[in-house]
Amino acid sequence: MLPRPRPFATALFLLLTAAVSGDTVPVDWMMVAKIREEGLQHSQVMDFESYMTDVLGARLTLSKDMQRAQVWVEGTMKQIGLTNVVAEPFMDYGVTWDNEYVSLHMLTPDYTPMLGYPIAYTRGTDGRQVAEAVIVDLQVLGDLEKYRGTLRGKAVLVTPPVPIDMAALTSGMPRRTQAELDSLQRVVIAPARPAPPRTVRNPETLLAEEKLAFYEAEGVAVVVQCESGWLAAVRGYGRPGARADGWSRAGMLASPVVVAITPEHYNRMYRTLKRNIPVTIEFEVRNRIGEQTEQAMNVVGEIPGSDLKDQIVMIGAHFDTWQASPNASDNTSGVAVALEAARILKAVGAKPRRTIRVVLWGGEEQGLFGSRAYVRQHFGNPYDSTVGAKPGYEKLSVYFNQDYGPGQYQGIYLQGNEQARAMLAAWMAPFADFGMTVVSNQSVGSTDHVSFDEVGLPGFQFLQDRAPGGGGHTNLDFYDTIQRDDMMKNAVVMASYAYHAAMADTRVPRKTVR
Ligand SMILES: [Zn+2]
Repeated sequence: MLPRPRPFATALFLLLTAAVSGDTVPVDWMMVAKIREEGLQHSQVMDFESYMTDVLGARLTLSKDMQRAQVWVEGTMKQIGLTNVVAEPFMDYGVTWDNEYVSLHMLTPDYTPMLGYPIAYTRGTDGRQVAEAVIVDLQVLGDLEKYRGTLRGKAVLVTPPVPIDMAALTSGMPRRTQAELDSLQRVVIAPARPAPPRTVRNPETLLAEEKLAFYEAEGVAVVVQCESGWLAAVRGYGRPGARADGWSRAGMLASPVVVAITPEHYNRMYRTLKRNIPVTIEFEVRNRIGEQTEQAMNVVGEIPGSDLKDQIVMIGAHFDTWQASPNASDNTSGVAVALEAARILKAVGAKPRRTIRVVLWGGEEQGLFGSRAYVRQHFGNPYDSTVGAKPGYEKLSVYFNQDYGPGQYQGIYLQGNEQARAMLAAWMAPFADFGMTVVSNQSVGSTDHVSFDEVGLPGFQFLQDRAPGGGGHTNLDFYDTIQRDDMMKNAVVMASYAYHAAMADTRVPRKTVR
């Protein structure tokens, strides 16, 4: 623990740096030094990462696993010294779903254990079963007749054989090149996006949920699929149609058993069947399905502000994951960084003017549900007359998010908010030696800062390097591939950005929304 900074000295220093540099955006180099020392010499970020990945594991939104993990993270926030720690419920989400056991084997023509996981929100088996495998190629309505009455008790292989990505195997993960970083910086006018082609759904084409309903009606024993192009990787998400039925118990029980397996095991069975040689598999899946609809949670904790304490600076990451691994990169790494950033600020005795709020989202993987519900409830949306701006809308300064893997920050994306450039660039200056130098005008998506950006609030995602490992959304996303140095640097940067935003004379400017 470091001695607390003297606010008077800090204020004086801020005044001096501003006066000397003539810069309108001051940087508190003394505080940066303390944050760097704490975060680079006494880091706990990998301890957070290890506990979440090794002990807690996967955290599917609303699973029992997630509920247990939320209790842990609330306790950890309190231990760090955060106040107002609370799990805030959002929406009547659905029922809990947890995989508790899975066992898959090919028995003939040759025994081999197989690696796979159930797709979320599906039913389990009635004990251990053995079934003959068959290839099924359902595309259009007319295909149904071809298979009707032939699939009872079968293990159906429903996806085409999968090409393996050999480039990933032989050359690994390329880090960003300097040329790539330069171009991210230099492209200042967003490239025009062509209007998406008008698509009309062919009514003959079967939807994924229609195929599942057919397999269930036909009494298949298990649906086997593979959507992964990496050796040893299982990629499996949620059951098609689960969102439409509100993650309901009835929907889960009405689903066939569905497992995703690795491409090498899948392709082996597929090729063998193409030789007209029978393949039998043994399998058992136990999924625990909740009894009643429950609300999902975002977990919140704060470092209270002082003279501007009713204004808020937010940092965060999504706490939920898919189910096949501990998801060390996506997004346990972001959660570990946000927790460590908060810990660093408490450890150096930061006394922010604005309140710094850490939020760990639920429901991101299924469609940003947690952050959208939070923004709607706390800040509102002035561009939607059915919602309107809430009083909190003017109180938020900025939200910083991490969710592009565990790679180190090399810059930040402005989301087209040129008015925020001066601040975000100035706060980056102390981290040039980390390799963080790029301010990109570009807008990026697919994660929780979007929930802020889309209602006109400043929400930013850091520009991150690609990192090796990081099998996001697969069974291969473990602690061992996370780069410690990147994580430590990211926590330092996130802490420093949060601190500077909390101390600034003004809120982070908002972009003009038209
Ligand atoms: Zn993610």
